[in-house]
Amino acid sequence: MKWSFSIGRVSGIDVRVHASFGLILALGAVQWGVPHGPGGALFGILLMVCLFACVVMHELAHSLVAQAFGCTVREILLLPIGGVSKMEKAPEKPHQELIVALVGPLSNLALAAGMFLVAGKTVGAVGLEQVLKMPATAPSASTAFVWLLGANVFLALFNLIPAFPLDGGRVLRALLSMSVGSRRATRIAAGIGQLIAVALGLMGVFSGNLILALIAFFIFMGAGQEQAEEVAKTVLHSLAVGDAYNKYALTLAPGDQVSRVIDFLLTSYEPDFAVVQGNRLLGVVTRADVLKALATEIEDVYVATIMKRDVMKVDAARPLDEVRQEMMEKEERVAAVYRDEAYLGLVSLEDIAEALLVVGFRNRQEERRKAVMAG
Ligand SMILES: [Zn+2]
Repeated sequence: MKWSFSIGRVSGIDVRVHASFGLILALGAVQWGVPHGPGGALFGILLMVCLFACVVMHELAHSLVAQAFGCTVREILLLPIGGVSKMEKAPEKPHQELIVALVGPLSNLALAAGMFLVAGKTVGAVGLEQVLKMPATAPSASTAFVWLLGANVFLALFNLIPAFPLDGGRVLRALLSMSVGSRRATRIAAGIGQLIAVALGLMGVFSGNLILALIAFFIFMGAGQEQAEEVAKTVLHSLAVGDAYNKYALTLAPGDQVSRVIDFLLTSYEPDFAVVQGNRLLGVVTRADVLKALATEIEDVYVATIMKRDVMKVDAARPLDEVRQEMMEKEERVAAVYRDEAYLGLVSLEDIAEALLVVGFRNRQEERRKAVMAG
């Protein structure tokens, strides 16, 4: 991500901080600096750095447990509103998702409990209620201690609100998918998340708490996005590439000339043409290649001279979500589908997007049918 810099690696995971995190440091400096002068400002900054370490611990807890379940975690990104663990492969089984989601907030609670055991008396003297009005208290080691204890309790409780993309939303989805399946679980959890977001948003607006309103907005957007991604993932996972490639595609022979492709372009919607000899794929000619040849070549050249030869190969049995991921990573728009050694046809990212729409539509019809029967 742009505007972020790496602060280290833990267990192969790149830990990065977004530049806007500086805003939080500034906020700490102002909050404590106004009542207590320059020393207070420095205290505020140090406090925010400690808070930040607690957020890192929270994200690491998610990531390390996910790794233990065989997931790949690419990076942890720290934003002013909290951390995000970017996983290439998220946990699939509900009980794994449940544990991965819970360990983040639990790590904050464990830290808070540990702090309480060490210095329960100090905390008792200040009173947790006071924590909320802390900037008024004079900076000291015990003030920092109590403030951080309160902050960890807050981090845990806030993240357990059952609304995507907060951990509580994932916990809810994992619990639901144990009984109603992953797709419905996501829809119900996302719906609940959006309801809570609206409630928080209204609370924020009416109490004049703009930060709360802003957080509610992010939760609302996150819930919708999570649902769209989950649907795409489950639908594409249930399909193999062999179900999505174009079986009736027009093909070219290496001896065909560009003028023949132009006929194809004018009479079909196909954007890519396989150049085949017998059952062997020699290369791919795209609409863009043909248009370029038209613009630059004077003669009617053979397709073999303008085709792309190194085409990405995929096995027909592989799930679509996996292939889509690989194509996006390698920045390939088209891949050649093979069953064992036999070439079957081409599949493009557009074909995959189309398959997603078709299957999504069928699933909704199916669910409506079931709902009607049940009702
Ligand atoms: Zn978390």
